[in-house]
Amino acid sequence: MTARFAVTGQAANDTAEQAFAKLTPAMKIIDKISRAIAEGRPFYSFEYFPPKTEPGVENLYARIERLGRMSPSFVDITWGAGGSTAELTLEIASNIQNLLGLETMMHLTCTNMPRQRTADTLDECRKRGIKNILALRGDPPRGAARWTALDDGFAHAIDLVRFMRDRWGDEFGIAVAGYPEGHAEADSYQRDLEHLKAKIDAGADFVVTNMFYDSDSFIRFADDCRAAGIVCPIIPGLMPIHNYRSFSQLSQFCRVPLELRAAIEPIQNDDAAVKDYGVELLLQMCRRLLDAGAPGLHFYTLNLEQAVTRILHELELAPQRVERVLPWRSTAQVVRPKEDVRPIFWSNRPRSYLARTMAWDEFPNGRWGDSQSPAFGDLADYHLNHLQIVPKNRREMWGESLASRADVYQVFADFCAGEISAIPWYDRRLEPESDLIRDQLVRFNRGGLLTINSQPRVDGAPSTDAAVGWGGPGGTVYQKAYLEFFVSAERLPLLLATFRDNPALSYHAISRAGEAHSNCDTVNAVTWGVFPGREVLQPTVVDPRSFEVWKDEAFDLWLSMWGSIYPPDSSSRRLLQHIHDTFFLVNVVDNDFTNGDLFAVLEGTLGTIEGLDDLDARAL
Ligand code: FAD
Repeated sequence: MTARFAVTGQAANDTAEQAFAKLTPAMKIIDKISRAIAEGRPFYSFEYFPPKTEPGVENLYARIERLGRMSPSFVDITWGAGGSTAELTLEIASNIQNLLGLETMMHLTCTNMPRQRTADTLDECRKRGIKNILALRGDPPRGAARWTALDDGFAHAIDLVRFMRDRWGDEFGIAVAGYPEGHAEADSYQRDLEHLKAKIDAGADFVVTNMFYDSDSFIRFADDCRAAGIVCPIIPGLMPIHNYRSFSQLSQFCRVPLELRAAIEPIQNDDAAVKDYGVELLLQMCRRLLDAGAPGLHFYTLNLEQAVTRILHELELAPQRVERVLPWRSTAQVVRPKEDVRPIFWSNRPRSYLARTMAWDEFPNGRWGDSQSPAFGDLADYHLNHLQIVPKNRREMWGESLASRADVYQVFADFCAGEISAIPWYDRRLEPESDLIRDQLVRFNRGGLLTINSQPRVDGAPSTDAAVGWGGPGGTVYQKAYLEFFVSAERLPLLLATFRDNPALSYHAISRAGEAHSNCDTVNAVTWGVFPGREVLQPTVVDPRSFEVWKDEAFDLWLSMWGSIYPPDSSSRRLLQHIHDTFFLVNVVDNDFTNGDLFAVLEGTLGTIEGLDDLDARAL
């Protein structure tokens, strides 16, 4: 059957402002960490700063997402000295909170901030669902020797805490800074403690400390805080030493013990040795601090991930395996509390799905109703929704130049074989479940079926299965075999004939221009789970209308992510434009989840058309 899909899709009408206004507020961090403390579970959190360049921002999101899989209790993002990064800080905080789904604390300082601007910024935070603020006085702006207050601004962090509590009551979670070695400008350590106590009394929930390298100083400080009547959580701030250059700047921020200097000076020219030493030092400090009763650990990551990852693994705090509540990444703590169904097409691009559906009033729950699918919004944030790999690295992975379609096929095959780490439609290595079909995927791609999404058939596996499990213990999960791929117009007729010969297969094929072929016009659940005492869950579906919306995004990536790395009149760019204009995007489901063998059926179509391999190998 040939059908032109009905065009019912339309962009969501809500402005970003209206969409943000609907966000359910996030959780307060104090509630989260108090629960961890009550359960005797040490927690950890990661600080990032806004990068200076666009590729830097792109990379940061990828990094936060990777470190996010270690389940930090929260992440925080700094406010540049003197407010220099105000807008970017707000944008990044909002994206981490709403699209990466991590509890986020935004730093906010009083430097160069008139009262009204502070109020506007906090109103914007409320709109965007940013519920947690680290309230700071701030460092002097770059180049200024002393900190000075504006006439209509605040003089100390405590003024900001008071302002927030007066104006918005309990709405925000508020943290403040503490200094185990005393603040540099304080009259005395004791006076500084009194000022900290005043910040807590004014309404702050917990303290994050400045960095230090002498664990005793933190332990003493925590004791002194208790003696001064500060009973809230006090989280030690820890900065791994990454190299000698960053080490040599440390003395601007905290005291550097002599033993540390004596250990690092002799190895200063050996970056790897300095880094190893830094990791070992922090490991010892973390163990000591946790033993002494620190409730958790706060890492100044400097936007780097290796040291922190190593430390948390060595401490055996990082989860061995992140339990999947649903097969796709859930953002339940932020918005969409009841959402439990999504189209499979975006399973490798969750951020773009979240961004496109942010304006929805309700999220599909129980089943995928027709009402939702038409309202996919446009993709606005380039940083977040495109692959976070700079063009130079993309050319290294996907070819300095491409001559023929076969060159493109090889890139896809290399990705499935694990030889390159991303393609435009998938920005990390294949999931473990793909190991079950990896060899077949490599053959498909060499043979001209350019796969961008797949899942093997699963006829009942424990919900705790390492590769395909989700939903927690006690259940049984199922999947229909699924494959989604681009294919040339010349190969398509044989595939369509093969699909028609196999009644258990349902498929949709569509070109960029909208020429469509399908044998199925209904929503098809392709993943489901049976759990004791609950209705059957069916979290992933193939939905024809969503596929139409998805195809525009999927085809666009040929040019926006891949074609754009080559000069406009180059043969590589022309080749990718040709694929974009003439290929079809196909999805196929094998509804026989007990005995079907979709992948064998597809394998039977490879290499069977006379002359096609030659066509693919020919320079365009
Ligand atoms: P305050 O609490 O106002 O203290 C500043 C000084 O004033 C102290 O000496 C204190 O003893 C004294 N003091 C406090 N209250 C009074 C009072 N009522 N009367 C008289 N004296 C008083 N800086 C940035 O610019 N951006 C950031 O994102 C950032 N993030 C940080 C994160 C952490 C965890 C920490 C520890 C620091 C961070 N800083 C940041 C640095 C911070 O802004 C500076 O250390 C700043 O000098 C002090 O900030 P504060 O909030 O501790 O100030």
